[in-house]
Amino acid sequence: MNSSTQLRKARPAKLNSSKKKSRRDLAGSPLARDAKKLLEGLANLPDGDCGLAWLRSNVPYFLDEIAPVVRKETLASTAGEETFPYFAVAKTDEDKYKYWVLRLCATLREIWRAPDRRTKEWGMFRISQDFYGQGVPELVNHPYSNEADFLLLGLKPPSRGERLLLEFMRWAELTRYCGNPDCPAHYFIATRRSQKYCSDACSKPAQREFKRRWWATTGRRRRSAKKKR
Ligand SMILES: [Zn+2]
Repeated sequence: MNSSTQLRKARPAKLNSSKKKSRRDLAGSPLARDAKKLLEGLANLPDGDCGLAWLRSNVPYFLDEIAPVVRKETLASTAGEETFPYFAVAKTDEDKYKYWVLRLCATLREIWRAPDRRTKEWGMFRISQDFYGQGVPELVNHPYSNEADFLLLGLKPPSRGERLLLEFMRWAELTRYCGNPDCPAHYFIATRRSQKYCSDACSKPAQREFKRRWWATTGRRRRSAKKKR
């Protein structure tokens, strides 16, 4: 049995048999299921044509979304001694697979096996930066190679500052800019998702305005309705 058959056979059984849902597995949500399928698929991607075929039939959106990859080539001069770097654009699925997907898979596997949570999180930042850099393709430094993968063997512990900065990931959905134009410190971390103001003091002007409008419209209507009765 080759690795691609294994991959196809193992996957559905594994997914269906996960009756015991761990708390961390946001199990059941379509996002979590899709993420799991993609992540496990990429990490376990078989080599060569089988890998490309797996992507095409299981996660076709993934290939489509890859921006044309700028890859660095070297051209030997006619004299045969000097080489000149030049940039070529990979647009076909085959080229994207060769110059982008395979490098992504290699990095993802290193991250998967990294010794601790810190290294894994750091590795995922690298994926954002190196594989999903945005802007003018010719100027964005796409991953020409996986030279930084050795760092995934383990990083030094973060400094206190870096550790605290990384907490941003935990609060990412709750980082807000206070809606009060006169707020003395606009950037805050909310305690609930619907929160728009950093403090009671900052929400007061908006509350007053809301009450004023309410009395001017709904309140007035109700008062006049009461009088009529
Ligand atoms: Zn405020």
